[in-house]
Amino acid sequence: AIYLDYNASSPIDERVLDTMIDIYKNYPGNPDSRTHDFGKNTRTILEEGRKKVGNLLNVQSNEVFFTSGATESNNIAVLGLKEYALRVKKNHIITTSVEHKAILETMKHLENDGFIIDYVNPNQDGEIDVNQIKNLITDKTLLVSIMHVNNETGVIFPVEEIGELLDSTDVLFHIDATQSAGKLVPELKKIKYDMLTLSSHKLAGPQGIGALILRRKNYELPPIKAIMFGGEQEGGIRPGTVPTALVAGFGKACELAEQEYEGNFKQLKECQNAILKLLGDSTIKYSIHGNIEHLIPNTLNIAFEGINSEALMILTKEFCGISNGSACNSKNYKGSYVLESMGLNQSEIASSVRISWGPHTNLKVLKEEFARLLDVAKNLQ
Ligand code: PLP
Repeated sequence: AIYLDYNASSPIDERVLDTMIDIYKNYPGNPDSRTHDFGKNTRTILEEGRKKVGNLLNVQSNEVFFTSGATESNNIAVLGLKEYALRVKKNHIITTSVEHKAILETMKHLENDGFIIDYVNPNQDGEIDVNQIKNLITDKTLLVSIMHVNNETGVIFPVEEIGELLDSTDVLFHIDATQSAGKLVPELKKIKYDMLTLSSHKLAGPQGIGALILRRKNYELPPIKAIMFGGEQEGGIRPGTVPTALVAGFGKACELAEQEYEGNFKQLKECQNAILKLLGDSTIKYSIHGNIEHLIPNTLNIAFEGINSEALMILTKEFCGISNGSACNSKNYKGSYVLESMGLNQSEIASSVRISWGPHTNLKVLKEEFARLLDVAKNLQ
């Protein structure tokens, strides 16, 4: 069997797990305790983890704020601006219609508070046009929030260009880099932004930890306020005891991603090419959502003509862990809103599956199990 749902959650790297076990066993303190060495020692581990997360993005440790994951980071990045928005009398936000629900639902919440949100649609290939964003900016625009890589299609969005566009303005720029962090390593180091969301469990780290990166311009943080109250941790932006072992694991995962990304990237691309070759060599009728040149190499969203994705998933679930969209929406699944925004019709949407893999995916097993999946698909077609 093969797990091919890395975009939902990637398996934890064993070296990350070893790091965490050591912390759980040997560092019992609360990192904020100041009355004994247990606290101090734990604090040292916490700060080492913070440094490693910062290194992956080429930012300072004092720009890294730990959260419980990408959903919380996105909430803080958007809702945390409310007070500032009132003060500077700006109520306009630009985002896209294909963001993760952690952004879309948060935006909906702001709409109820009187904010005006523009949702830019992608084209048929799932791509976002920078000019569309540019043309929407007014003197009321507070924020542009966009993902780096779409979690369903793997399409890479033009965040570098948007960063350049906004750099000389007072419009804040937030990137949800959940699916790109650890994969597009050199790219992320160069991009200009004010806020950036990370999630540990998408890059072989533990679940339940993430970060919001807040860039300091002239030493000043973006005007973010806490959305929860109760402690001074993380600069008061995210109160609550920071889970040291999770941070150490997240830090280790970032360190490994930094050290190994070139080999990993090659491996991801090889897996992608192998799937494309198997598809191309078979007689099956299919199409890929997105232009292969603009896709991250660990994802393919494939429509199998005339096949119901639910049927395919049921018939293959024992040997292939694939999905038809974001795990967060799977309870009340009504078809992918991402594919719908790209202008696909209901039958195309109903026939689409998302396949995503990681650096530890075994190429040989992948080929075998994907060939098995294709056999099942062919029988359904
Ligand atoms: N943003 C994107 C683009 C995602 O893909 C996900 C997870 O699927 C999230 C946010 C939410 O991440 P987390 O599970 O860490 O809250």
